[in-house]
Amino acid sequence: MEKPLRIGVLAVQGNFREHAAVLRRLGAEPVEVRLPEQLDGLDGLIIPGGESTAIGRLMRLYGLDEAVREFGGPIFGTCAGMIVLDRDHLGLGDYGTQRNAFGRQVRSFEADLDIGDGDEPLRAVFIRAPWLEDAGPDVQVLAEVDGHPVLAREGRLLVAAFHPELTDDTRIHERFLNIVREEGHVRA
Ligand code: GLN
Repeated sequence: MEKPLRIGVLAVQGNFREHAAVLRRLGAEPVEVRLPEQLDGLDGLIIPGGESTAIGRLMRLYGLDEAVREFGGPIFGTCAGMIVLDRDHLGLGDYGTQRNAFGRQVRSFEADLDIGDGDEPLRAVFIRAPWLEDAGPDVQVLAEVDGHPVLAREGRLLVAAFHPELTDDTRIHERFLNIVREEGHVRA
């Protein structure tokens, strides 16, 4: 049997418990990360949604900003986590983000997304969500809402503007675990 993948979940603020629960459901081993050394030996990392300003501040306080920049493995950022990875924050992703892009009036909504897997649409929950802007040539857009990218992959990065940890559909987390397996083979 395959050894369970050990996936860190940045646990300074936001929806880290919900991500850990999905990982457990998929047979992976979640590891809550609050200190730089907790990144050692992980197969991948999730940066959850929450409040990007708070997450950024706490990451700097604990030295996690540098540690995550140096973490060479696959990273999955959702909502605020997608903002934290962008060009203007950690600078790991070659894209910008527009915060609260869908407007403060429409703070939260759900949408059915075609995620290009030939399967039924994915019900996605958006909460004061950003969208991607001005993405570089290596960013592959995987889903859009009204022409704005909300799911994308760039090499070892997967980013979602919505909250796949809040619904029962595990396809986005499964896609991330597949990226972890692929990259693991490349790195091995
Ligand atoms: N609006 C939040 C921010 O800018 C993100 C919201 C979320 O993660 N649900 O950080």
